[in-house]
Amino acid sequence: MYIPKNIIINRVIICLFLFLVVLVSSCSKTSNNETLTIVNVNIIPMDSERILETQTIIIEKAKIVKIGPSSIVKIPENTQIIDGRNKYLIPGLMDMHVHLEESDLQLFLANGITTVRNLNGDETYLELRRKVAQGEILGPKIYTSGPLISGADTKWKIKAVPNSPEDVRGIVKSQKELGYDFIKVYDGLTNEIYHALIKEARKQNIKVVGHIPKEVGLAGILNAGQASIEHIEKIVKDYFGSEYDYAKAKEVSEMIKLSSTSVCPTLALQENYYLNSHDEFLKKLENPEMVFVDSEIMKWWKSQTTPQNNSPSLNKKYKDFYNFQLKLTKLLFDMNIPLLAGTDTPNLGMVPGFSIHDELRNLVKAGLSPYYALETATSNAASFLNKDDEIGAIKEGMIADLVLLKKNPLVNISNTKSIEGVIAQGRWYSKNKIQSSINKLFTNGLH
Ligand SMILES: [Zn+2]
Repeated sequence: MYIPKNIIINRVIICLFLFLVVLVSSCSKTSNNETLTIVNVNIIPMDSERILETQTIIIEKAKIVKIGPSSIVKIPENTQIIDGRNKYLIPGLMDMHVHLEESDLQLFLANGITTVRNLNGDETYLELRRKVAQGEILGPKIYTSGPLISGADTKWKIKAVPNSPEDVRGIVKSQKELGYDFIKVYDGLTNEIYHALIKEARKQNIKVVGHIPKEVGLAGILNAGQASIEHIEKIVKDYFGSEYDYAKAKEVSEMIKLSSTSVCPTLALQENYYLNSHDEFLKKLENPEMVFVDSEIMKWWKSQTTPQNNSPSLNKKYKDFYNFQLKLTKLLFDMNIPLLAGTDTPNLGMVPGFSIHDELRNLVKAGLSPYYALETATSNAASFLNKDDEIGAIKEGMIADLVLLKKNPLVNISNTKSIEGVIAQGRWYSKNKIQSSINKLFTNGLH
């Protein structure tokens, strides 16, 4: 095999790049009517902490139609068979906090993500959602909020800025009419405008997700029934300031428990903020997956690294903040508050797709078992989306969004990276297919 010298030879990169090529090229060729059968696979159904060993799973027209022991289930005729021996099948992962770019869609799929929740969208995202749903382009299922609703001094380009309660009612109504899945609230809203927003959203039957506007405060958004709080950092800043009082942490988790709010902690991003005053973070920016990062984004990340902040006292401050967020996450988990895995990609150091594995690792670092960490990216996410009868678990009748892993993720959460193939809407994209294309790709000089 001829490999040009100027190409960095890294198996991970090669595989993932090819994975993307295969994903893109097979999009139009694969028929949705084929059946697919995985035999002898260990299924992690995510309905409770268990493994169903040596199972056969039959997929037809994008749905799981049969699951049972391989010794019993008959393999249908004219089916594509996948050998699942010694491998593990989990539901497709969901990244519940992304800022999506069309160019990144396949990076999510290549990392086992079959659903994303986009948290600042405009009409181009509605079009993207439609194209993916109709199979015109390949990508994870998209759920999207409309333009975030904020005060005037928000830095993001996509936003809606209401000046009065009447204004905000109009914005909510029009976002619902346009077909967005959520209303995203952001910083800088007054109490009056926030409550008008909530009232209208309830009338329009659309969930409100997002930040904690300062004037409203944590208690205010909990009482109002906001469906999710993004970033545990926001809870700490709103409720604790810089006094990390553990007695108060118990109190806040009890308060959240009384509401029906889910929390999307985005811990891995906070780990990056903590690390960005260390050489360790700059080293991280050399990781193989960084080749997939847009040069402008990389420039932005590098501009946020703060060598000038590298003083012991500041380092301690960042570290204490991050550690407190880990502790609070565990407390919320212990109180059975639904947690959602979200990355906030492409914020600091969060590579689209790849970063979900960092978030899962952080949730385990916070004290969740690998099983419960997986729940945040599967069954909890599906429940939040009101789609738990379709996605987020492995069961007959559900949509076949699945990830085949070489190693057991319940033993070590980093095994979610040992991806052998992904099934999205019943279509199979294998690693073998990818590897068989390696020679072709390099001799054609596509890379
Ligand atoms: Zn965000």
